[in-house]
Amino acid sequence: MIRFLKWAGLVLCIVIFVVWVASIWAGIGYTCSYGGQPRTISVVRGGVYWFRSTQQKDTGVVHFHAASFPHGWLPDYHGGLGPGATIWYMPLWCPLILVALPTAYLYNRDRRPPPGHCLKCSYDLTGNVSGVCPECGTKLL
Ligand SMILES: [Zn+2]
Repeated sequence: MIRFLKWAGLVLCIVIFVVWVASIWAGIGYTCSYGGQPRTISVVRGGVYWFRSTQQKDTGVVHFHAASFPHGWLPDYHGGLGPGATIWYMPLWCPLILVALPTAYLYNRDRRPPPGHCLKCSYDLTGNVSGVCPECGTKLL
């Protein structure tokens, strides 16, 4: 289970990062009409945009020019952009950090030597009474 989580976390990090880099040049989104109001979710210019605009007439998969989108490093909300238009924006570093931190923790946790081993070189210190690791010379606490 832990192995799967580590693997899945790493893959997810790579996927988010690749999407992030790719979205600098090209954006893609999907528009669906919900209750007569077109709603679009899209990944463009380093972030995820969820917006509602009566000006978005086409439904289905839509492509965007990245340059026409505002870019910010923080999650953002734009209201009042014309009649009935709102934009929610979440930069992709948010999900990247959310996935990367627990993944890094899992990797780091497994690298820590088991109890009774030198913290620096993982040498087995069972029965050691000198207080110094014979392998690397680290003083033991
Ligand atoms: Zn050592």
